[in-house]
Amino acid sequence: MKCSICPRDAQERGYCALHLQAYHAIREKYQVWVKASDIGWREYLDQLQKNSLTGEWAKDVAKQLIREEEKDV
Ligand SMILES: [Zn+2]
Repeated sequence: MKCSICPRDAQERGYCALHLQAYHAIREKYQVWVKASDIGWREYLDQLQKNSLTGEWAKDVAKQLIREEEKDV
């Protein structure tokens, strides 16, 4: 199975090791944000995408998560 974002082999949750690491960082940071600003998950992902300080890996993951959110609706 391949990573849902890049051509590397997936490790877990459909992500390769690098994107998985970014995914965990995003989840962790969200816990902090939610305490500070009561932001919604989807809103948070949008912010991540717009934020120039967000790393490329995290942006890839945020984009993918938004796509997944839209698929579920
Ligand atoms: Zn990947």
